[in-house]
Amino acid sequence: MIIDLRSDTVTKPTKGMLEAMMNAKVGDDVFGEDETVIALEQKSAALFGKEAGLFCPSGTMTNQIAIKVHTQPGDEVICDVNSHIYNYEGGGISFNSGVQAKLLQGDRGRINAEQIEAAINGDFDWLTKTSLISLENTVNRAGGSYYTIAQMQPIGELAKQKKIGFHLDGARIFNALTETKESTKQTGELFDSISICLSKGLGAPTGSVLLGTKEFIKKARRVRKVFGGGMRQAGFLAAAGIYALDNHVTRLKEDHDRAKKIESILKQLSYIDNIMPVDSNILIFDLNKNINSADFEKKLLDNKIKMAAFGKQTVRFVTHLDFTDEMLVQLEKVLKAV
Ligand SMILES: *Cc1c(COP(=O)(O)O)cnc(C)c1O
Repeated sequence: MIIDLRSDTVTKPTKGMLEAMMNAKVGDDVFGEDETVIALEQKSAALFGKEAGLFCPSGTMTNQIAIKVHTQPGDEVICDVNSHIYNYEGGGISFNSGVQAKLLQGDRGRINAEQIEAAINGDFDWLTKTSLISLENTVNRAGGSYYTIAQMQPIGELAKQKKIGFHLDGARIFNALTETKESTKQTGELFDSISICLSKGLGAPTGSVLLGTKEFIKKARRVRKVFGGGMRQAGFLAAAGIYALDNHVTRLKEDHDRAKKIESILKQLSYIDNIMPVDSNILIFDLNKNINSADFEKKLLDNKIKMAAFGKQTVRFVTHLDFTDEMLVQLEKVLKAV
């Protein structure tokens, strides 16, 4: 038994998901003829109360397309210093859109309206044009922290008032909503564009959906083609996405519960110094001076447990669909023996 806690992207399709994929009706989606892709796009859009959706190979692509559509070269996007669009998309903000990031230091990845308002540039020739605000929910690099609607609302109002685009990197939005018990529709109302990932906690093999107005998605579709993301019989993958939305959203609570259980185990271990609050399915913690993350990683790997080193002393675990109670018992045993 291999226990893989590196990411919630490591899941394999379930039997039910594979069946849905095998039975998908497909066509050439570049010609707009794949009915399963269209069904996934419409279903996702309706879920968030948006007009249209666009199925893409990855969350990096949905985010990058959104940035491209919302901005012009030379503009800037406001985001938290921990954000995925800044840290983990290969410099795509500048590479793809010729845009720079204005980084704010939020509360574990969560920035607020006052900070953002102070960071928006005035309309002078010599200042960079602020054309986009991007939030991430949950925040991956900040240990799965989440925003409530009440926290995001004032930012949405500010964006509207200043006529600045408002994007949500919602790779794990369903994890956030699992905790806040707020709705997808409330989320959809706030943002101009939303990226959701099907291949994280929802367990699909690949794929993300970008949501927005019909006009926005029309532009996004053109950019997707330019970025090389026009897929042909993608309905096989979209079918996995539809299955994930129908079957794997409510079970996210289990992942959060198991993360909490891991937290309580970590708290008993003398070689662990500091654990970030565990808000959803991500744990980030520091090891004390007696062991570094490379040695810790090796010890776990010797026991068939995979993890992500997040720094010299810092470790990340992520719970997911393929992490079971049986694995939790085994993990506890190994952690206590380190
Ligand atoms: C995983 C992730 C993405 C998208 O990643 P892909 O691997 O390109 O699908 C975007 N934002 C966040 C916060 C993520 O965790």
